[in-house]
Amino acid sequence: MVERSLRGMKIGANSLESDIGVALVDRREVTYECLDNKQRFVVTLAADAEAPTVWECRCGSEARLIGAQVDEEEKNQKPVRTHWDMLLERRSTKELQELLDERLALLREGKLYKRMR
Ligand SMILES: [Zn+2]
Repeated sequence: MVERSLRGMKIGANSLESDIGVALVDRREVTYECLDNKQRFVVTLAADAEAPTVWECRCGSEARLIGAQVDEEEKNQKPVRTHWDMLLERRSTKELQELLDERLALLREGKLYKRMR
C-alpha cells in the first residue's frame, strides 16, 4: 500500500508540465501591443506556427501583433488560398454550376433537409 502511493507520487513528479525529459519544438517570441493601454507583452509560439495578428490581452482588450509587416512579406510569397480557390482547383465552374443547380432544385422542392429513410 505504501509503495503504491509512492509510485503515484513519482508519476506526478514526472508530469509533462515540467520541461524535464520533454522534447521541445523550436520556439519564437512575438510581441503584441494592447490597443487599450499600449502595454506590450510577449507570446511564445512554435517556430513554424503563424502568429495571429490579434491576441487577447490579459485585460481582455484586443492586442495587435508588432512587426506584422514581416508576416505580410511571407504572405506575398505564399498567397493565402481561400476555400473558394481550393474548390476551383478541384472543379470547373461548369461543374460547380451543375452542382449548384442540383442543390437549388432540391432546396426549392423542399427535399434538401429531409432525412433518407
Ligand atoms: Zn491590455
